[in-house]
Amino acid sequence: MIVDTHIHLDNERYYEDLDEVINNAQQGGIERFIIPGADPKSLDLAVQISEKYEHIYFAVGVHPYDVNNFESLKFEEYILHEKCVAIGECGLDYFRLEGSDEDKQREKVRQKEVFVAQIDLAKKYKKPLIVHIRDASNDAKELLLSENAKEVGGVLHCFNADEQLLSLASQGFYFGIGGVVTFKNAKKLVNILPKIPQNKLLIETDGPYLTPAPFRGQRNESKYCINIVSKVAELLNTTTQEVSNFTTANALKLFRIR
Ligand SMILES: [Zn+2]
Ligand SMILES: [Zn+2]
Repeated sequence: MIVDTHIHLDNERYYEDLDEVINNAQQGGIERFIIPGADPKSLDLAVQISEKYEHIYFAVGVHPYDVNNFESLKFEEYILHEKCVAIGECGLDYFRLEGSDEDKQREKVRQKEVFVAQIDLAKKYKKPLIVHIRDASNDAKELLLSENAKEVGGVLHCFNADEQLLSLASQGFYFGIGGVVTFKNAKKLVNILPKIPQNKLLIETDGPYLTPAPFRGQRNESKYCINIVSKVAELLNTTTQEVSNFTTANALKLFRIR
């Protein structure tokens, strides 16, 4: 069994053939799915999907690109749902900051506030965090440490291969490995992968984005987890069975699902 720990099944690109996407994945041995919260507008759909399919779970959160929707989201209504397994994806993303230096500074402060608020919710409700970090490793790490996020732990999804984040493994954090590891230019991630403790590795597609080779350009789906698992096995000099086994055990443990 393999768990796709990060797939946006509430994305419009799955509207037409969601049943098929799930079936194809399950036939390939991908049997558990977690839909991260990103855009509050599609959260109700994520909840509906999790209610319809036994092995699909969701998280509630606000992506750093969506911080202006934070106040209007009624977190508590979702957190108490039996299929809600985490808070996120939340975090910091400085990649697309725009405007003057002052504007950028203001945006950073805003992202940090919203991130801290979500770490607080995770601690209050004892849920792990799904953390999104892009071009913001320093600040993100500092906040996770200063806010004592180790109380709940979580996953650094789409791990950016930044070596300084590896020490978060000792703080209860896992590392989500996705299609990027199969890209030709993924040297950094390929090199750092063996340094991640095996009991802290997770598999994720981040579909519909980041489709692994050799399917780049197509919509990403959970069935391609197998391509990620194969690549990880190759890099760790082990079998796909072995990688499926330990990444699945890790996922079930972190998200407390069966
Ligand atoms: Zn993300
Ligand atoms: Zn995502």
